Amino acid sequence: MENNKKELNNSFYIENYGCQMNVSDSEIVISILFKNGFFLSKNLKEANIILFNSCSIRKKAELTLNNRLEELQYLKRKNKILFGIIGCLSKQFRDILLKKKKIDFFVNPNSYKEIPNFIKNAIIGKPYIYSNNQKNETYSDINPFYLKKITTFLSITRGCNNMCTFCVVPFTRGREISSNPYYIIEECKRLYKNGYKEITLLGQNVDSYKWNNMDFSDLLNFLAPEIPFMRIRFSTSNPHDMSDKILEVISKHSNICKHIHLPVQSGSNKILKLMNRKYTREKYISLIKKIRKIIPECSISHDIMTGFCNEEEKDHQDTIDLMNEIQYNYGYMFSYSSRPGTYAYRKLKDNVPHYVKKKRLKEIIDLQKKHSLFRMKEYVGKIQEVLIEGESKKNNQYWYGRNTQNLVIVFPKESYKIGQFTYVKITETTSATLIGKIYKDVKK
Ligand code: SF4
Repeated sequence: MENNKKELNNSFYIENYGCQMNVSDSEIVISILFKNGFFLSKNLKEANIILFNSCSIRKKAELTLNNRLEELQYLKRKNKILFGIIGCLSKQFRDILLKKKKIDFFVNPNSYKEIPNFIKNAIIGKPYIYSNNQKNETYSDINPFYLKKITTFLSITRGCNNMCTFCVVPFTRGREISSNPYYIIEECKRLYKNGYKEITLLGQNVDSYKWNNMDFSDLLNFLAPEIPFMRIRFSTSNPHDMSDKILEVISKHSNICKHIHLPVQSGSNKILKLMNRKYTREKYISLIKKIRKIIPECSISHDIMTGFCNEEEKDHQDTIDLMNEIQYNYGYMFSYSSRPGTYAYRKLKDNVPHYVKKKRLKEIIDLQKKHSLFRMKEYVGKIQEVLIEGESKKNNQYWYGRNTQNLVIVFPKESYKIGQFTYVKITETTSATLIGKIYKDVKK
């Protein structure tokens, strides 16, 4: 063997950065590697190939990955370990990492089937390669290796046709493509047979699912009766794609969960326009009213990005007013970071000072905590159906699970088991967790 060749060892380890979509992608990659004779190592130090499933949506995620690569370089020097990056990565960051030889190969989200070849080439010391494959993949012919039990995710659309000016996804994941509905239904039935009790259908804009004449509402309508004892969730919904038809279907089927994650990003029309979001604050608020009319018990969560280009104090106040009007159940809040390759990076100025972003972010986080507590208190004294998912992190005598609204509930274990549905009476709450006691069994 030549000196620069690495010895072949088929064990790999995966670290995930980013969203549920990345976890779902890792499950596809694991399945592809298994089929090609690789095996998953539980211990990073025992693996010969380390895959980092990266996320480029926020600068912070890239910095975290960069630090992690630095931290692990000693492993690379000591043992002949290969570092590969999969997932979303901006071209700029990828080129820096390749140039500095921090990674051996990079595989984009549409080329996972090629991973075994990337690894084999890297093993024989071929120069780093990355795929430019622009053909979008659904991976519908791959049965993912699910990492979780009881609840899991299934990607049903990949890529995105929207061009929000702050977002790298259309560049890193390509055009939107939907999976065949027969694959989705069969995969969900297979999961149910294997003991899964909840599936979350994933997509960057899951509501814009389209397969011939079938739209997302049709898919839900077909799927729900096929798996009547399995909960169905979905994420993420773009306000622009949410239709009355979808709301009617959610309301009609008891196994479709009553929770909608509806990122608003900003309450200011000026900022929404600069972001190229295809709705106004008025349209968004009227959509929320419609959701609450058609599905009164529905919980609603959000994503809000503060400090986007040209955001002034009055735009920030518009966001605060919108939050006060809606009083979301919960939400995810971030401050804007400019991402190379995006329209905002090229054409707009990241001109809100860091300290202002920080201050505005704190204000919306504090406000959301207040609203979350208000919403959680609405459940005290009520009976909730809960799917038991695991042991509470704070108390091993308690289970944790979620209700249909995706709110976390903890309660004493008694003789119940993970994977069971039960009714819990809520006795108290914090802004993040409902606390209760078993009320009675659910027969499922
Ligand atoms: S809808 Fe906008 S934010 Fe969401 S993935 Fe597409 S471009 Fe990005």
